[in-house]
Amino acid sequence: MSISTVASILSNPIEYLKGVGPYRAELLNKELQIFHFNDLLNLFPYRHVDRTRINLIRDIQHDTEYIQVAGRIVSVGVMGDKRSRRLVAELKDASGVLELVWFQGINGLQKLVQVGSEFLVYGRVSFFQGSPQITHPEIESLVREASGQATLEPVYPTTEKLKVKGLGGRQLGKLTQTLLGMLKEKDMPENLPESVMAYPDPAGGGTLRHLSRWESYQQIHFPTRPDLYQRALTRLKFEEFFLAQVRLGMIRSKRHRYSQGVVFTQVGEMFNRFYSEYLPFELTGAQKRVLKEIRRDTGSGRQMNRLLQGDVGSGKTMVALLAMLLAIDNGYQACLMAPTEILARQHYEGITALLKEMPVEVRLLTGSSKSRSRKEVLDMAREGKLQILIGTHAILEESVQFSRLGLAIVDEQHRFGVEQRARLWKKAAIPPHVLVMTATPIPRTLAMTAYGDLDYSIMDELPPGRQPISTVHRLDDRRSQVMDFIRHEIGKGRQAYIIFPLIEESEKVDYENLIRGYENIKAWFPEPKYWISRVDGRQKPAERETNMQRFLVNDTQIMVATTVIEVGVNVPNATVMVIESAEKFGLSQLHQLRGRVGRGQEKSFCILLTSPRLNKEARERLNTLCATNNGFKIAEKDLEIRGPGDIGGTRQSGMLNFKLANIVQDRELLELAREMAERILDNDPDLEAAENVGLKHFLQTQHGKTQWSKIS
Ligand code: ADP
Ligand code: MG
Repeated sequence: MSISTVASILSNPIEYLKGVGPYRAELLNKELQIFHFNDLLNLFPYRHVDRTRINLIRDIQHDTEYIQVAGRIVSVGVMGDKRSRRLVAELKDASGVLELVWFQGINGLQKLVQVGSEFLVYGRVSFFQGSPQITHPEIESLVREASGQATLEPVYPTTEKLKVKGLGGRQLGKLTQTLLGMLKEKDMPENLPESVMAYPDPAGGGTLRHLSRWESYQQIHFPTRPDLYQRALTRLKFEEFFLAQVRLGMIRSKRHRYSQGVVFTQVGEMFNRFYSEYLPFELTGAQKRVLKEIRRDTGSGRQMNRLLQGDVGSGKTMVALLAMLLAIDNGYQACLMAPTEILARQHYEGITALLKEMPVEVRLLTGSSKSRSRKEVLDMAREGKLQILIGTHAILEESVQFSRLGLAIVDEQHRFGVEQRARLWKKAAIPPHVLVMTATPIPRTLAMTAYGDLDYSIMDELPPGRQPISTVHRLDDRRSQVMDFIRHEIGKGRQAYIIFPLIEESEKVDYENLIRGYENIKAWFPEPKYWISRVDGRQKPAERETNMQRFLVNDTQIMVATTVIEVGVNVPNATVMVIESAEKFGLSQLHQLRGRVGRGQEKSFCILLTSPRLNKEARERLNTLCATNNGFKIAEKDLEIRGPGDIGGTRQSGMLNFKLANIVQDRELLELAREMAERILDNDPDLEAAENVGLKHFLQTQHGKTQWSKIS
């Protein structure tokens, strides 16, 4: 079915809207990225002013956050100079006086804010030397105020520059009103299929029907009733989620249907022999399940793109190894990439040890591989003489070519973007299967959005016999008890980690702390039988390697390190993890660090040391960590504390740029959108049914499409 693409009124340049013109259009382009009518329509008010609700200045309490007052300017003047130059005005109403302060746009404001003029003022209250003030308030002249009929007026985000040029929140509202007045229902055809229009009434009981697009836009900007505003908001949030889910679902479904993948037809000699003779333990149910999923994907004739989410210590490495053996059984090569050199080397050693009785060629390639061995490895990969290549991202370099790469695994790193994956595809005529394994679990809502184009597997089960790690928070003046505790544990033959933060901004100070800490710890353990390793990012790779190696084989009992050992490192004999300045770490990072212990049969401990001065967020992080060992729960909490903007480096991800919806607060709506998108695509994967024509047309023509390349 062909779809006409008649230019819509909404794609008109903003310049042509009545009241805009070329000069203002340029300002709107630059300041708010508004280029077309549609962009203005999608600049949503962040609140509505209820003009009937005006507070008295006297009502301001110490915990008042935002307030709206009305009054007359009784004094105004510029104070301070250079950086402290500011415009200060006093606003007086019947009950008291409030100070208004501006640091920017002073010249323009001076014309507006004059003694005697009356304003409606809104803003965040702060206190300066005991008196209330508002910095950069929103102000509107009361004189020009129309006879107050509209009770809810929209307030738009704007910039100081626009305000000064007469495009403040109020004027933006006028423009939007003009635009909405021009639009007819037919200019905003429905993009939601009929079958998704019904949704559960949040008030309970029955179902409601979404407002039409046209009505939703009218209500979101200029609500006539609070309940209609709510329904408009729900609809537009749902629409955002739904459209994103349909797009992601189409990418997945296209790959399922059309991508060509190498076929692993059989489970053969290597897999079976390893499984029956050398597998050191029984697989967990979750490991078995994930292997089945991988086997199904790789046998399907389509390319696998799977995200394996497993909690710390759930045994992802063994899944990776078995999947690689499956590739070899089918005549293909496999590679395993780790985020750090330490981890790559550890995988290499672990895997060569496990495979030592089997005829499998395994090689290591990292940034510090010597050129001789590097050349040899490259030759072997190209000529098909090696079967498993383990390494850092050095493997992605163009010089690394395989004769028959069938499977690429990325360990402990879910942020492996489409572009990086594409570099892997070029390493073989038919793109290899890709398995990306996470460093820590990610919340379901994030998996559904930022990683929604991948299929995903979950390993939420730890190997049997693991005891939960006891986690406690201690103030750092109790360090001596902590040291005694370490002595007690290493006396029993166990090992301990002590981690120091090393964050870039304060690298020098942190580094000094690390060295001082290391010297102190040496002084705490003077006994000749105890040895200490130190590993940090400033050491040469060889030195780091030696220190790591000594700890791995229990030549050293204590490892003093920075977060270079954060992910993946596996020393099951280690039972104590002490984290210095724990307040400086993020929640997932703490969980990942803690995951270095509790990897064997012995009871393990994690001690979070901090100074007594902690902010609320840090306290919440530490409490969460002490309360649970479950990485999936921790991931949810992390998202809740930090908000969706900044999780796991997904800030760049276009998929999280929802204008109205929020994956934390609106998760139920997201689940609903996901479910409905899947149902639609299951029945009609190319959106060809009559019911889905509006949706398809919208997806093909809408403005401001998501930047797909950013999604990982
Ligand atoms: P992660 O998922 O964090 O990468 P690893 O793959 O490093 O975890 O495994 C953690 C530890 O658990 C390793 O010592 C590994 O040998 C062990 N292990 C993995 N699977 C099992 C299992 N099914 N039974 C017992 N131990 C296991
Ligand atoms: Mg691992």
